[in-house]
Amino acid sequence: MDREGLAAAIACEDPAFEEALRDEAYRVKVETIGPEVYLRGLIEISNICAKNCLYCGIRRDINCQRYELSDEEVMATAKVASRRHFGSVVIQGGERTDPAFIRKITRLLKAIKEIEPAAEGELPLGITLSLGEQSREVYEEWFDAGAHRYLLRIESTNPDLYHKIHPNNSLHSYDRRLQALYDLKEIGYQAGTGAMIGLPYQTPEDMADDLLFYKEFDAPMVGMGPYNPHPETPLTLSGAPYPSAERRLALGLKMIALLRLLVPDINIAAATALEVLDPRGREKGILSGANVIMPNITPEEQMVKYNLYDRKTLLRDCPSSVDPEKRDTHICRNCVFPFCSLGDDLNGKKIVIGYGRWGDSKHFKKP
Ligand code: SAH
Ligand code: SF4
Repeated sequence: MDREGLAAAIACEDPAFEEALRDEAYRVKVETIGPEVYLRGLIEISNICAKNCLYCGIRRDINCQRYELSDEEVMATAKVASRRHFGSVVIQGGERTDPAFIRKITRLLKAIKEIEPAAEGELPLGITLSLGEQSREVYEEWFDAGAHRYLLRIESTNPDLYHKIHPNNSLHSYDRRLQALYDLKEIGYQAGTGAMIGLPYQTPEDMADDLLFYKEFDAPMVGMGPYNPHPETPLTLSGAPYPSAERRLALGLKMIALLRLLVPDINIAAATALEVLDPRGREKGILSGANVIMPNITPEEQMVKYNLYDRKTLLRDCPSSVDPEKRDTHICRNCVFPFCSLGDDLNGKKIVIGYGRWGDSKHFKKP
């Protein structure tokens, strides 16, 4: 589990080794934190972004149809999460620092906290934000308004690689992003981070360093996922090579497994990006040691515009959108969300969904 060992495990493409690693991570997960998987209803609030990350399909300079959910739409969506006993929501979107947007988030946080829990014994919805880099004051305002977790991926812990996949200007500074993570932690958020897996220029040593960073930063939750190219981004158009879809899936699952073995008691999300590579991608993430899933509950007409990468397959492959009869047997109960293709065979593995629970990481210690 040192840098060299992790890099060797990441570089090794032997399917039997990779399978054994995933099985062991799943076993350790059940043994350490139990069989529960927690749900976070994902609300993609807006695809308007002030930044220009070279890999991202909603970057500022890409020509796409922009949207922003109204307060009413966000509230209606949060109520769906509450009614379905998801326990928590994640509000994610492009990075914006204009006062109107900041005030809107504060207003929504307070309003979501007022939603009456759907069943006795349930807490008001837990709220994670994922809205990029903000000033410390803004993070504090949102924390005071009710957000208690924040997901800010470091994207890559190798500053050289970070700068290869971002424009070279002060809006895209590695040091600034790292500082934002420490701000979040000091304020008292459960500060989650993560990186993309299978990026151009990325080496097994880089990925090993990412894992060691999560441990050193003492992240109570990690959301990392495979890089998926978007056809119109500068990174894709540059022609820089990256691993095949098959390898990126295997790497994504292997990173989950290695992290579970490295820090057994944290929350690890099975990212949506896995689902693009395999219709059962997120389930495979769970069976590799992840314990959090984020069913997408963004209203459908807006969801299709949140194209960080090409997500068409997500729509096509969802069993519930193909077969309405399946809805009642879905693990997220009466699933009507086209991006959520969680199937029943998970239940066959005796995975227990932590309905109506926040599912905070046992690892988190208040500062
Ligand atoms: N704007 C915020 C949150 C939304 S983007 C932020 O950047 O933090 C959420 C995540 O999507 C990013 O952290 C990035 O890791 C991921 N992402 C963007 N483009 C991607 C791509 N092409 N493939 C895989 N993940 C991508
Ligand atoms: Fe904006 Fe986030 Fe995409 Fe970067 S990754 S362009 S900050 S939405």
